[in-house]
Amino acid sequence: MAAEKPVERLSKTVSVVQTPSVEVVVFILLELYKDDTHISNKGMLDIFLSVLCYDIWFYVSHRILHTRLLYPIHSTHHQKVVPTIMDTYEGHWFETPFQGLGALVPFAFLSCSVTTALAILVILNVRGMMRHDGRFVWLIGNHHLLHHRFPQYNYGEYWLDRLGGTLYPNRNEAVPGLIYM
Ligand SMILES: [Zn+2]
Ligand SMILES: [Zn+2]
Repeated sequence: MAAEKPVERLSKTVSVVQTPSVEVVVFILLELYKDDTHISNKGMLDIFLSVLCYDIWFYVSHRILHTRLLYPIHSTHHQKVVPTIMDTYEGHWFETPFQGLGALVPFAFLSCSVTTALAILVILNVRGMMRHDGRFVWLIGNHHLLHHRFPQYNYGEYWLDRLGGTLYPNRNEAVPGLIYM
């Protein structure tokens, strides 16, 4: 009798595990195994397009959240004038998925590997957390921290706020980061 392949054996093991979260983690690991954890040039393009679309939609959706109608939802995120990394996801349950929709736009037209999707998730979340903590200003600047102090400015990326006329006007207070504004 031919020996079972490791992946088949693992698949059978997964089927008897009843905890959904464990199954999800094992499913992702199996998908990574198939992908060989390699991000191709296409994957790099997918990441670039996804982050670009995320940023554009984040800016637009963030301005929508600052309208009189929706600010009651967004105000929870603005409770801390000086946030820390722990406040990144502080807010109404509706807010984070709503603002994240842009990242999915390219994949209405393009395929995306699980490895690339995970890389996008990690990039967006790590960047989002660093934006909310003064200890990372040296790396990515204080653009979003200024938004928490002056909520009528700096809704998104530096270039989008510049285009949209919403850049915080007192440039003396803006600290550019090493790799990111
Ligand atoms: Zn924030
Ligand atoms: Zn805001």
